[in-house]
Amino acid sequence: MDRLAIVVPCYNEEEMLKISSEALRGVLKDLIDKKKISEDSYVLFVNDGSKDRTWELIEEEHAKYPVAVKGVKLAGNVGHQYALTAGLLTAVQMSDVMISIDADLQDDIAVMEEMIDKFHEGKDIVYGVRNKRTTDSFFKRTTAQAFYKLMNAMGAKTVYNHADFRLMSKRAVEQYAKYGESNLYIRGIIPLIGYETDCVYYDRKERVAGESKYPLKKMLALAFNGISSLSVKPITMITGLGCIIIFLSICAAIYAIVSYCLGNTEPGWTSLILSIWFLGGVQLLCIGLIGQYIGKIYLEVKHRPRYNIEKILSE
Ligand code: UDP
Ligand code: MG
Repeated sequence: MDRLAIVVPCYNEEEMLKISSEALRGVLKDLIDKKKISEDSYVLFVNDGSKDRTWELIEEEHAKYPVAVKGVKLAGNVGHQYALTAGLLTAVQMSDVMISIDADLQDDIAVMEEMIDKFHEGKDIVYGVRNKRTTDSFFKRTTAQAFYKLMNAMGAKTVYNHADFRLMSKRAVEQYAKYGESNLYIRGIIPLIGYETDCVYYDRKERVAGESKYPLKKMLALAFNGISSLSVKPITMITGLGCIIIFLSICAAIYAIVSYCLGNTEPGWTSLILSIWFLGGVQLLCIGLIGQYIGKIYLEVKHRPRYNIEKILSE
């Protein structure tokens, strides 16, 4: 039977930890009773350099439930995306399937069973997708929605309304591990892995205890990181802007020449205005072109896997 690891990144989650641990152990027990996962399945809490008692609480839980609760302590705070990666890459060595979820239980743990069912049907990645975001504030909802739209427009393909609540098989996590990039935006990388995927839908709840560890500043940083680490489209936009300005300068040239011929210009104005527009456009275009090369270098140094072979038929 398959050994499940539920990976939970935790940063200053002392109010949540016992509640999460109990709820997640409940899910494990239920799935074990239904013979859907092995008896040594476990919850893996990753302490992301918390400043409160989070790690002590993880230790206590592990002492009480040595099989069901395990922990990873990071030496300092590295942020949600890295903490989650640390957890996944630790768990992959000792489990067959992993589900990542936030410590605040805003995502519905009840759909984990459905995720496991889909895994048994042969899906390698199962995304948890929010139906609606009624419990989030209007501000959080609209900014998050704008964020997904912007990301997609910028060429970073992500699953709409999916955060980091997802199931991944062992081989999917192993493939994910090959993406050695430091500017990490997990949601953008997972769709690049391939394999058969599916979604389960749920309503996102309110945080049970504690407060959001993702203030606007961190959200904006995540958004910029997402775009800049997945796409070099902004550079292409500079090139495009250069082209547009050169075109405008041609229009301006016609206007200036007509004005000149009609005789209602000051001496020197025509040549000045033309050079300003034209040179501006040429400069932008050149910056864009250089940018294209930098963009290529950027993609090269990531050393991403170029493909993922699923099967080979030979002999
Ligand atoms: N988290 C983390 N490191 C950080 C910030 C957050 O591991 O530096 C964890 C946090 O403990 C939680 C998850 O990431 O389990 C998501 O954070 P939160 O629920 O505060 O974000 P929100 O749901 O408000 O976007
Ligand atoms: Mg949350």
